[in-house]
Amino acid sequence: MTEKKPDTEAAFKRFKELLDAKIHIYMNACVHCGLCADTCHYSLANPDDIEMIPAFKINKITSFYRRYHTVLGKLIPFWTGARKLDENYAKELVDTAFGKCTMCGRCGINCSIGLNAGQLMRAARTALVEAGLVPDSLQATVDNAVKTGNNMAITEKDFVDTIEWLQEDLQMELKDDKVKLPINKQGADIMYTLNPREPKFFPLSISAMGKVFHAAGENWTFSSKNYDVTNYALFSGNDREALEISIRLVDEAKQLGVKKIVLAECGHGFRATRWELANWKKEKLDIEIVSVLELMAEYIKTGRLELDPSKNKERVTLHDPCNLVRNGGIIEEQRYILKKAVNDFVEMIPNRAQNFCCGGGGGMLAMGEYSDRRKKAGKIKADQIKATGAKVVATPCHNCIDQLTELNTLYNLGVKIKTVSEVLAEAIVFDK
Ligand code: SF4
Ligand code: SF4
Repeated sequence: MTEKKPDTEAAFKRFKELLDAKIHIYMNACVHCGLCADTCHYSLANPDDIEMIPAFKINKITSFYRRYHTVLGKLIPFWTGARKLDENYAKELVDTAFGKCTMCGRCGINCSIGLNAGQLMRAARTALVEAGLVPDSLQATVDNAVKTGNNMAITEKDFVDTIEWLQEDLQMELKDDKVKLPINKQGADIMYTLNPREPKFFPLSISAMGKVFHAAGENWTFSSKNYDVTNYALFSGNDREALEISIRLVDEAKQLGVKKIVLAECGHGFRATRWELANWKKEKLDIEIVSVLELMAEYIKTGRLELDPSKNKERVTLHDPCNLVRNGGIIEEQRYILKKAVNDFVEMIPNRAQNFCCGGGGGMLAMGEYSDRRKKAGKIKADQIKATGAKVVATPCHNCIDQLTELNTLYNLGVKIKTVSEVLAEAIVFDK
């Protein structure tokens, strides 16, 4: 991070604006029971480091609240651990809020009083935006999205070339020139989004969805300009930029005259667009927004896909992305799809809302300065995967795929990592 003189007064002012009833309660609520120590992948991977325990991280954030909002904090700050929000303390907050928490929310659902450290960390990040203390690495990803329309700064021409090349490939593979990857099709029923990592590094996940849509007979389209489902401003804490990024999908869908937006397999992108966008906009959205997992499950339920699960021979397990599952409410759809698409499906323990973060959430993958911590915290996930004996890990999130790919090498897991649609596409029977 470049050296900056942080504007701590602006940060403090912003934090005060965020102090609604819920945050006020969070600031005073911890009863120091210690239950959260066993719930966080950071504290489990670093058992000798008390700074990784959620309650300690919460205390770091609440110290300056106590200094200004409690009688004892004002009168005898040294006794209560209350601190002024000065430059050094602001930098400690950066290390805690950005570098020691993926905002996964697991501690919150296991806290004896429901205190959600993830929500507090995001409030702290939002305040630190005003101090100019968002890590440069994370901000660069947000800047790309704001300036170019996607977080990898892919030009429109490169995107269109990639999709056209994939369409040709798909037509050859399926020996059917009616297979299309439509771009900017006016009046389609749905607009499908992507994580920019797909056209850049993972074209197979685009082809997989092309197969699913073709087999289901869907009337769909991409937008060539606004297809990016991700929103790293959810992680930077900047609500203005977060709104600017996600609202483009809604505006584009209206331009194209589609009936609904279908969000690609992306945990935080789902949370940002499906749930947080209306909060950032401060009004209800007037277009339907669903996860592609909901759509694929519906195709299977309504008989629009014929599947042969024996085409997926290896044991498959599922990693639940925090922002899609615990923080997003999409829990059973991916299980339903995989159980129909493979013969040998096994759950990780724990799973669903209790599943552990892979360690790549919260913008961690964009912040190289914390990569050692990220990989160490990922050991909890690596152990979970090993215990299943699976040869394939399916996960509906490209951020999770990146982290799991690193863990696969680092911890010798010997697995293949795929999106749910890649597993599903493999099971589709085309020559009915
Ligand atoms: S939100 Fe997740 S990463 Fe952050 S302290 Fe809680 S369990 Fe740990
Ligand atoms: S479980 Fe909740 S109340 Fe107990 S120490 Fe952790 S944050 Fe505090």
